Amino acid sequence: MTTIAGRRFDTGESVRVSVERGVITAIEPQADATDWLGPGLVDLQINGYGGQEFNDLALTPEQVASVSTAMDRDGLTAYLPTATTHSFEMLRHTMSVLAEARRTIPEVAARAPGFHLEGPYLSPQDGPRGAHPLEHIRPPDWDEFQRLQEAAEGGIRILTVSPEYDNAPEFIRRVVDSGVVVSIGHTAATGEQIQAAADSGATSSTHLGNGAHGMLRRHPNYLWDQLADDRLVANLIADGHHLPDAVLKTFVRAKSPARCVLVSDITGLGGMPPGRYESTSIGDVEVLEDGRLVVAGQRQFLAGAALPLRRGVPQLMRAAGLSLAEALPLATTQPARLASLPAGDLRIGARADLITFRLPADDDNAPMLEITSTMLAGNLVYTA
Ligand SMILES: [Zn+2]
Repeated sequence: MTTIAGRRFDTGESVRVSVERGVITAIEPQADATDWLGPGLVDLQINGYGGQEFNDLALTPEQVASVSTAMDRDGLTAYLPTATTHSFEMLRHTMSVLAEARRTIPEVAARAPGFHLEGPYLSPQDGPRGAHPLEHIRPPDWDEFQRLQEAAEGGIRILTVSPEYDNAPEFIRRVVDSGVVVSIGHTAATGEQIQAAADSGATSSTHLGNGAHGMLRRHPNYLWDQLADDRLVANLIADGHHLPDAVLKTFVRAKSPARCVLVSDITGLGGMPPGRYESTSIGDVEVLEDGRLVVAGQRQFLAGAALPLRRGVPQLMRAAGLSLAEALPLATTQPARLASLPAGDLRIGARADLITFRLPADDDNAPMLEITSTMLAGNLVYTA
């Protein structure tokens, strides 16, 4: 039996949690824990880490394993490795290596319950397509998607697609019927097209408010249309760069916290020093002095994020005025529910994917949760 102690994120009560065979067997009061205790973080969108992109024709299962375990220190207990718009050859390679890594390396299987395919069926318009290379953008193709899902050994759990193509409603229906979550993103779709996508079973909006035109008609537009549709869970990047606090607050108030989840959208180039880089995934990008990652020569378009999910929780608390009890589920149980992934929870019988952490100081202007330990299926995989 293992134990882990802390103050419950939801009630503030100090408890000791007992774990056997990866499952919580008891939760008992204990005197004066200092760190907070909650479920492990669940990230639906991670493109790479520590200089390694998943979109890489030379990607190996061992590299997937090192990316996976490197994020234990960020409090992540489940994540979806994400491949972005590219040639069929690239996407097939990425999907088959990710699948092989899950099949053969237990550390990957324990952390990556599936994959997110973001593209290639996205908008060709500048702005909505963001950093996705135009030459590889194409209309939805069910046969190609099936071949990629085969390469992934059935592991694709989320497909981000723009519903602006004529065949989108039928395509989305087939993808949803095959058990995959369809998320609307990188889109210039009309209100009718967004409604048709939700009618066909789309249940999510990929990083709402990003991957959009720099200049947009005030109304109607695809932001209002997705905000107003209660069938769509908004995925939000709350890293302090992608959405201004006022937008974050307004989105969360409009959707309600229960219909929002946080994602990092972190890329393999996150955390690199300022300069120009050739990404194996998206081509020429620049890291600016303030840490923003942008398309080279198009600084108005962010090319992905550089900060982990533990950044988003305190940013959201401040921007939207949410308590820890209200905010943490947006980075833990709610994304897990959206994509039917395993997740920890503070109740007897739940999987022991847990973290202990401290909150940042009030005057910290780049606040992060300070992770002090990460427990994955009952095993302590990180301690500060
Ligand atoms: Zn994106």
